[in-house]
Amino acid sequence: MLIETLSVFPEMFEPAMSTSILGRARRSGLFDFAAYDLRDWTHDRHRTVDDEPYGGGQGMLMKVEPLAEAIDDIASVGPRPHVVFFTPCGDVFDQTVAERLSHEERLLFVCGRYEGMDERAYAYADDRLSIGDYVLTGGELAAMVVTDAVVRLLPGALGDEMSNVDESFSTAPSGGLLEYAQYTRPAEFRGARVPDILLSGDHAKVDAWRRENAIERTCRWRPDLIGRADLSAPERARAEELIERFHGAASANDGEEEETVS
Ligand code: SAH
Repeated sequence: MLIETLSVFPEMFEPAMSTSILGRARRSGLFDFAAYDLRDWTHDRHRTVDDEPYGGGQGMLMKVEPLAEAIDDIASVGPRPHVVFFTPCGDVFDQTVAERLSHEERLLFVCGRYEGMDERAYAYADDRLSIGDYVLTGGELAAMVVTDAVVRLLPGALGDEMSNVDESFSTAPSGGLLEYAQYTRPAEFRGARVPDILLSGDHAKVDAWRRENAIERTCRWRPDLIGRADLSAPERARAEELIERFHGAASANDGEEEETVS
């Protein structure tokens, strides 16, 4: 896979792209990376990429011409890139989008700055993505977040192939739940003990505990995921009970004791 970025701060990317799992994946050829400087597609002495908005208002906007020329140039060599623009006004990035993007041969991430972009630039976008309901100063960090989530899905990027399967949000086999709680040594830390079942060596019981724990945690932290989760009828009944307990009218009362989930 080839991942490229277009922005006014190309120097932001290198540390993230050469450290740890991304660095190893890149050195082993699982993906290649290039960061382009949008100012290389300007034609004036000041290398101007922004201008005032028509109709007035605060701040500056990124001009359409450098963006369009840059994308045309970059795309003119090699396979056609899948072009992603980062903006708060986009589809919200999640694990399903990460999985979809991980099948692309070539991704071009276009990062905004200032108050955003001239709307006509979006004609070049195959996707408009937001990484969440908050406003960043630029799209570079969003591009790094998406690159990280996509690259770790590439076969061979993680040492252990299975570690992609059990994770929070992945569709199978955890079925769209958050991941269960995990523990490592010591078995007791400042009075907090690891659940006995995990020390029992009984794999069937461990699996059952993890499933129940994943359901509980999802009900506690992300009840919005339960509707789409892959649950059996008894699990769904249990989840409804838990959601009522964690978030129902009774548990919202002041002074009510909150049940905690690890
Ligand atoms: N005025 C714009 C925000 C511009 S922020 C608005 O209100 O919608 C400047 C740039 O940061 C954007 O062009 C975008 O590339 C990036 N950015 C900001 N928040 C983002 C988010 N939540 N997800 C992805 N990119 C974001």
